[in-house]
Amino acid sequence: MYFNILSDLFEQKTWDDTIIDYILKEICGHIEADFLAAYVHFDKSESFRLLGSYYEDIVMFMPKNFVADEVIIPESFFHENKRPKHVDLLQIQLRGMGKLLFIYSKETPLPEHFLATFKKETEKLFSIIAQTWENTQRSKNNKFLQELSEKLLKANDKNDVLRDITKALEQLYGDAEYHLILTQEYGNTPSLPIRVMEYKDENPISMSTQVFMTGEFQIEILKEQSKKMIYAPLTGEQSVYGVLEIIVPIESYLWKEDILLIEEIAALSGKALEKTILYEDSLMQVSNLTLINEVNHKLNSTSELSELTEIIRTQIMEITEASEVGFIYLDEESNVEIEILEGSSELFKVGNGSGIVSLYKEKILQKSDAVFNGKAEELRSYGYQSVMVIPMEYSGLSMGFTIILHEDTYHFSFESFKLVESMMQHSALAISNTILKERLQRTLITDFLTQLYTRRYLEERINTHLESGSSGVLLLFDIDDFKSVNDTYGHHVGDVVLKQVAAIMENKIGNKGIVSRWGGEEIAIYLPEMDCEQGKQYANDIRKLIREGTEPAITVSCGISNWKRTEQYNQKSLFIRADEALYRAKSKGKNCVIIHKNRAASLELLVLCYRY
Ligand code: GH3
Ligand code: MG
Ligand code: MG
Repeated sequence: MYFNILSDLFEQKTWDDTIIDYILKEICGHIEADFLAAYVHFDKSESFRLLGSYYEDIVMFMPKNFVADEVIIPESFFHENKRPKHVDLLQIQLRGMGKLLFIYSKETPLPEHFLATFKKETEKLFSIIAQTWENTQRSKNNKFLQELSEKLLKANDKNDVLRDITKALEQLYGDAEYHLILTQEYGNTPSLPIRVMEYKDENPISMSTQVFMTGEFQIEILKEQSKKMIYAPLTGEQSVYGVLEIIVPIESYLWKEDILLIEEIAALSGKALEKTILYEDSLMQVSNLTLINEVNHKLNSTSELSELTEIIRTQIMEITEASEVGFIYLDEESNVEIEILEGSSELFKVGNGSGIVSLYKEKILQKSDAVFNGKAEELRSYGYQSVMVIPMEYSGLSMGFTIILHEDTYHFSFESFKLVESMMQHSALAISNTILKERLQRTLITDFLTQLYTRRYLEERINTHLESGSSGVLLLFDIDDFKSVNDTYGHHVGDVVLKQVAAIMENKIGNKGIVSRWGGEEIAIYLPEMDCEQGKQYANDIRKLIREGTEPAITVSCGISNWKRTEQYNQKSLFIRADEALYRAKSKGKNCVIIHKNRAASLELLVLCYRY
């Protein structure tokens, strides 16, 4: 009979749950029993678990799902007063697969010699069936996994991956409740059964967190809720990305193959998620590189420091949404003196800003590590909480640092910090070169002793202004009786006085004009877009300041000339006329200001008359 059952099964039946019922029906008929229930031993709960049953009279018999190890057939198996007279048990040891228990009812007991053969043959039959069942189950699962893995490996988008995983889970565990528990950064798709992993200081830590941390599969039985929780880690090559949680009724039996399948699905999901995360990372890196490349390109095409810092500041603002950006350059010799580069936010040019700069200056000088802080206590009094400080280095030499601020806590992301850091590394050379170039250019146009502009630079500036401006005034100063200063105090003191004069003038004029050392102790000041009256005012102010502010006290004389667009002048005539006025100031007794009266027109008239 068993041979027939087997050949029948292999020929006609699909290997699903119905085959057990079929076998039990055949056995029941063969031993002429009223009902038959088959149980397999369930090691974990030390009880037998219902495999299937067959009975003619449906009202009479209700086999329980579980039967205790020391088998006593419970009354509840049978409806009231319907307990059959003869109920028998038969335990059969299966080869390496636990025990099988038959509970059946039969008027006359099975004879001894039949029982021995029955046990032996049934053991064989179920061994074959279990093996085949396992094999079919395995190949079914493998096919499923293969299809899933093909789908998952094609997807590059995190959400596609999550959707594919969910679809597969729905197919397998549609009746059960299941979740993907993912870490914060991956789990935000409301339409999918996704939960965010919570790391609380819970004690004891939840099973899902434990599985996430250890990366080990776990089954948790919740007796009160009659639930069985299955947790499988979503493991990739590099990390665990979350946990697959499946909730089934407590009585559901999990075959070895079921557990293997769940573990495999979870691992496959972990790998697929990892792939998309790495893919997104690499996309991000490519876009970061592109950005840095673009910035570099822009930097290379400008030569002005102010433009350069402006480009970098704009870029930093865009990446970080910062409120303030400051570029602090360290003097290469002393490394103590600092320069706030143009392009820095206004904040850094006022008192508060320098306070912030000095907070980080020492830190950066001592060990040039970057600062990344979302809750900087030291900045609280300044009204800022998020800060990034990024050292600027070139060939291992500290050039300075960049400070980036925001009022809110934790405003800057770590990615933006990394990006700005790498952008600054790439910009350091350009900044350093431009600063050196600008310094060199400045030395070329700066007088060494007085630090005023050179005569040549002044002439160039006047020439350019003569082309585009509409008016201007030239003040030509000469120190009175300077020879006697030298004679009385020595050349060195003469130099000191000359520096004092230069500083007073520079201070007074600021960015209103250009102060230059014209000759030995002669200083010329050009004031663009001003008239004689304004020039005279400046000249007299300076004259007084010098008289009062030099030590030993000296005086100066000044000659003034001017030009207007309506009249034709060149730079040379401007100087000749200023010199003439200066000469007259000297002859008038020195320590005074003389304006050259415009007689060019009358002179021209005189020449014309002469020719005529
Ligand atoms: P005056 O009031 O007529 O201008 O008399 P002065 O003595 O200043 O005469 P003048 O302007 O002709 O003399 C220029 C003197 O300034 C000559 C030189 O000794 C001195 N001098 C020029 N350049 C320097 C300098 O760089 N350092 C010092 N210490 N003296 C200078
Ligand atoms: Mg002179
Ligand atoms: Mg002089």
